[in-house]
Amino acid sequence: MLASLPQELETRFADLFGRPAEIVVRAPGRVNLIGEHTDYNDGFVFPCAIERSIWMAASPRSDGQVRAYSLNFGQSSTFSLNTIEKTQNPSEAWSNYLRAIAAILQKEGVALSGLDVVTYGTVPIGAGLSSSASMLVAAGLMYTSAVGEEIDLKRLALLSQRAEREFVGVNVGIMDQFISALGKRDHALFIDTRTLDYEAVPLPASGVQIVIADTNKKRGLVDSEYNNRRSECEQAVKILKGFLPSITALRDVSIAEFEQYAHALPEVVCKRARHVISENTRVLESITALKSGDIALFGELMNASHESLKDDYAVSCSELDALVTASRSVEGVFGSRMTGAGFGGCTVSLVADSAVNAFQEQVPALYQQATGLETTIYTTKAEQGAERIR
Ligand code: ADP
Ligand code: MG
Repeated sequence: MLASLPQELETRFADLFGRPAEIVVRAPGRVNLIGEHTDYNDGFVFPCAIERSIWMAASPRSDGQVRAYSLNFGQSSTFSLNTIEKTQNPSEAWSNYLRAIAAILQKEGVALSGLDVVTYGTVPIGAGLSSSASMLVAAGLMYTSAVGEEIDLKRLALLSQRAEREFVGVNVGIMDQFISALGKRDHALFIDTRTLDYEAVPLPASGVQIVIADTNKKRGLVDSEYNNRRSECEQAVKILKGFLPSITALRDVSIAEFEQYAHALPEVVCKRARHVISENTRVLESITALKSGDIALFGELMNASHESLKDDYAVSCSELDALVTASRSVEGVFGSRMTGAGFGGCTVSLVADSAVNAFQEQVPALYQQATGLETTIYTTKAEQGAERIR
């Protein structure tokens, strides 16, 4: 179905607008393999793009209007590039991403053309696989392609982040947009969120799959707890600065330094800092492990990341823990951890090809026994980032 998706989208475009689509783009969702809650501490993350994308087919209009139709929502939305405002109409809320990135591109001096647009996505919506970043990155690529501008993908990521922050109003980090724009097939991206330097690290070409499982638990606490964690990390930096004057973020503190000065931190702050500092180290170790072909060690580091998020950072929940426990009980699973902000959302597991069927058979039943909930499972390889197809 995926392979024929661009053609289907073009057919729907022609049906709706009575002319062919001149431009087709896609941008993928993402999963973070390791490096959680490190981004707002200037630290390291290691995500890959997944084999689920948001697609957009478009052709220019000469009247400065954007007329868009979402196949997922079965809704249309129209706005003028001259006066872009956030829509308050819930049935058009999805178009705020199309509005947001257009507004930011124009602010940056890119002269845009009006467009007819049809969009369809296979990134699960609101599951923590970043459908919102896919929308922004795909739309940014579409708008710039339509005026013949070849946008630098790092710039596209930064502008998409700004769009989500300034226009949509969600205080996101850079990881989601970055990986959606710059992901590389069969690789994960080691990103330094301070410098935005990055390195594509090959994942095993065969033998393992990335398996994502959704707890299907409605997330409640995320926003308030997220803000608490941020301020606990800031508090840790403030206190540790008394001993290490040159630090500006937890990223700057080594494990040895942390152990030396941990006594000065209040108990909870100490645990939060220990997660961030040890998680940064785990990202570095996991990359070394991958480069030397040691998948077993990579899996152990994923497991250790989960324990740290659960015990020190306190952002897991009983559903995530149950899903991780169920996943690890399957033979051939190298490692399993929560991924994303926590309190619900998805787990990510590294699974031997030969064990993927067993995973799909056993994990849903075990998870249901433990929680009464159903899980949704997505298997994927690392996919290429945003691209123009036509
Ligand atoms: P996620 O974790 O998936 O990023 P968000 O709440 O940040 O969840 O973003 C989800 C929103 O993005 C949706 O409510 C919708 O407005 C928009 N969106 C996601 N996928 C699509 C799609 N395929 N078509 C239109 N809008 C979409
Ligand atoms: Mg999002």
